[in-house]
Formats: sequence, C-alpha cells, structure tokens
Amino acid sequence: MQILITDRNLSRRDHRVMDFLRRQAIDNEGASNAKLAACIVLKGKIISTGRNQLKTHPFASQYRKNDDAIYLHAEANAIVNSLNHVSKDDLTKSVLYVYRIKRPDTHMNKDTVWAQGIAKPCEGCMRAIVEFNFKRVIYTTDNEDEFAVIQ
Ligand SMILES: [Zn+2]
Repeated sequence: MQILITDRNLSRRDHRVMDFLRRQAIDNEGASNAKLAACIVLKGKIISTGRNQLKTHPFASQYRKNDDAIYLHAEANAIVNSLNHVSKDDLTKSVLYVYRIKRPDTHMNKDTVWAQGIAKPCEGCMRAIVEFNFKRVIYTTDNEDEFAVIQ
C-alpha cells in the first residue's frame, strides 16, 4: 500500500462522499477536541458511517496504537458498523473515507467556521485497514480540497 497526495484524481462521487462526511464531522458532538467522521462505500453506496467518540469498544481495544488509545476511532466505528451489513470479503471491494474537521487557523478568514484537517489513520486503524484489505482509503489533509489516497 502506498499513500498518494492528490487533489485531482478523485471522482465526482468521491467528492460527494467527502462533502457528506464534512457535514457528519461537523455534527459529531461526541468527540472532545478532534472531530472526525468516516464512511465505507461499496459499489457506489454508503454502507456504514462512523465517528470518533469518547467510548470504548472491543474492536478499538484490538486495533489501537498503544495502551492509552482506548476510544473508538471513526474508521474503526465505520468498520464495526459495516459488518452489520456486509461480509469481510465485501470490505476488500470497498473504499473507506475519513474526514477531519477543525477550527481554522487564526490567519484564515475569520468568517471561516471550519477547516478540514489531516485525518491520516493512526497505527491501530492502519492495521485494521491492512487486515481488512480495503480497496482504497481516502482522507483529508490540512489543505482545503486536498486529499490523500492509500491504495
Ligand atoms: Zn485510529
């Protein structure tokens, strides 16, 4: 798997999914400082969504970066939810999207309420991504409208 930084190679569908996730991330009230949302798309359809939250989960314990990382991450939450609907085999044909929203830096336009932030999966989530063998992973970077793709 390799990471490509791109703002061009995303399809209109990818952009639509990211627009949806931006709203989901803004609406994520369950997180403290970091607000993330994720979803999994199979054959053009969103099959599950997830968000980071101050909640523990057996899946989060299995795929965590260290012993202090006890809370459920957005990617892990989307994977857990997806398995209510599809098989592990289906996930190998699926795309995982992750969006992080943050308060903009002060030098930005003061009318800007939210800016996108880097949503690079942590080591624990990367382990899950590799084990479930996702077709692609797309996540936000710190630059507006720029995304990174793992494939
Ligand atoms: Zn993670």
